[in-house]
Amino acid sequence: MTAERRYDAIVIGSGFGGGAAACRMAEAGMDVAVLERGRRWEKTDFPEHFDDAPALAWHPEVNPRGLYDLRWFEDGVVLTAAGVGGGSLLYANVQLPARKEVFSSGWPEAITLDELLPWYAKSEEALMPTTTPVPYPAKVKAFTGTAKEFGGRGSKLAPIAVHFGEPRNHPLSGHPQEGCDNLGQCLTGCPLHAKNTVDITYIARAEQLGSDVYPLHEVIALEPPSRKGGRWRVHFRDLQYDTTSVMEAPTVVVAAGTLGSARLLLQSKAATMPKLSPALGEKFSGNGNALGAIFDPTAHGTTDAEVDVGPSITSVIDLWEERGFILEDLGLPPSYMVLLEALRGVNAIGARSRARLRAKEVAARVGAPDRPTSPRELKVRDLPAPSIEDVLTFLFIGKENPAGRVKLGRRGQIDIDFDPADSQLLYDRMDETLQEVAEAVGGKPVFNLAHGPLGKFIIAHPLGGVPMADDPADGVVDDFGRVYGYDGLHVLDGSIIPSPLGANPSKTIAALAERGVAQLIADRS
Ligand SMILES: Cc1cc2nc3c(=O)[nH]c(=O)nc-3n(C[C@H](O)[C@H](O)[C@H](O)COP(=O)(O)OP(=O)(O)OC[C@H]3O[C@@H](n4cnc5c(N)ncnc54)[C@H](O)[C@@H]3O)c2cc1C
Repeated sequence: MTAERRYDAIVIGSGFGGGAAACRMAEAGMDVAVLERGRRWEKTDFPEHFDDAPALAWHPEVNPRGLYDLRWFEDGVVLTAAGVGGGSLLYANVQLPARKEVFSSGWPEAITLDELLPWYAKSEEALMPTTTPVPYPAKVKAFTGTAKEFGGRGSKLAPIAVHFGEPRNHPLSGHPQEGCDNLGQCLTGCPLHAKNTVDITYIARAEQLGSDVYPLHEVIALEPPSRKGGRWRVHFRDLQYDTTSVMEAPTVVVAAGTLGSARLLLQSKAATMPKLSPALGEKFSGNGNALGAIFDPTAHGTTDAEVDVGPSITSVIDLWEERGFILEDLGLPPSYMVLLEALRGVNAIGARSRARLRAKEVAARVGAPDRPTSPRELKVRDLPAPSIEDVLTFLFIGKENPAGRVKLGRRGQIDIDFDPADSQLLYDRMDETLQEVAEAVGGKPVFNLAHGPLGKFIIAHPLGGVPMADDPADGVVDDFGRVYGYDGLHVLDGSIIPSPLGANPSKTIAALAERGVAQLIADRS
């Protein structure tokens, strides 16, 4: 590639935001490049075994072909994906819209649930949510039984972006898919391509229309045009060949995910873009997530849950009005068993890895945070293959206070200020609820906030850091993701979301990206 490879638009990152943006710009006839730090994942590449888990840890030098970026900070570990398709490769497919009321404070005036409805619908051309069909896997029945035991409540099937039924070609991209076979591997990648992931939908369509996708290309710096209407210069590192180079385009869409985009913009503000809003880094949240498990339930209808069989999430119990959160049936695939072992009190990580993690913790405390976790830091002990017979596992999503912050550290790396105590009432209520549910089903509850295998609070739904707002003093981008003060620069991903959503975030990220990119295209003509 020559140093001055030029495009109409460069998209940084290929998750929900980047995928939607690339696809729609390609449909509008633009010449698009997508730079993605992770590899491309074919369906035969995904791991199936417990022992494969450590090899999944992404690291730019040690393991750029990994999938999970477990980023270490003093205040928690942030879990995201690396790969063409971003978080869709490893997510649990839930496609819930945000709660109506979350938009009433801290959002641009234009963004309401009604405003987003057509854009949610547009995202469904790619993500195609549906519900788990009958015959239901055992986990659905156990979750329904749990809801019933818990004060006669009901559970609902969740919309999930999964194809069930006969093999087909995806209607938007034509990519071949098999139907879901209840393998339970959604969180480590579907070997059937039954998940309607971004790589085989939005990105595949963009490629058919001539877009160039560059896997293993990590963007390291942004350089604004030297004159109005000029080209942005995007500096990147090729992780395969360890070289650096530059691409140019008048339009750049930053969609590197909450941490990726905040990191790039905080570093750019210090280097070349001083006019970025003072709100950069603000409104960081974990979308009010927590994990819970109930071991050995005994009540009728709640035993034999087999949470590892079937789509990872199938159902929701809605306690939003009553308690300010929802509960989903998060099932775990074989490679995640280490998490359950840890919940059961088994010390699952090997002694050497544990020592390495302790060193990492010390480094994060003394000013060297923002480090990805490498495979050798995650080696599990030589345990018998864990089993997961009688356990109910839950994901809580609640109304957290978005009081966190992403900031630039002394050595140019980022750090997060994130204190679960800012939302203590919420987590206490979740914990109490888990105890109530456990009592109702006759099992043993474990509420997991900071006690995972890594001994840290794990954030799996990071949001904010590059918040949208009507005023440049309060936000970095406007309601279309246009960066204040820098023409041609857009941010379209989870980083622009200024508050928790009361739902899993990807549907709203995709909808905001659909809306933002439609405006970007309209602004060009
Ligand atoms: C285990 C798990 C389960 C989840 N389940 C659900 C669910 O069921 N439903 C739901 O809605 N959400 C779920 N989520 C959250 C969801 O995955 C994220 O909210 C979503 O992927 C964020 O989309 P995004 O476009 O902001 O960024 P991402 O999807 O994270 O995409 C960003 C991309 O940018 C790339 N990138 C980062 N930095 C650079 C750089 N410098 N240069 C080039 N590329 C870069 C990354 O590799 C990545 O591919 C889950 C998350 C986890 C971890």
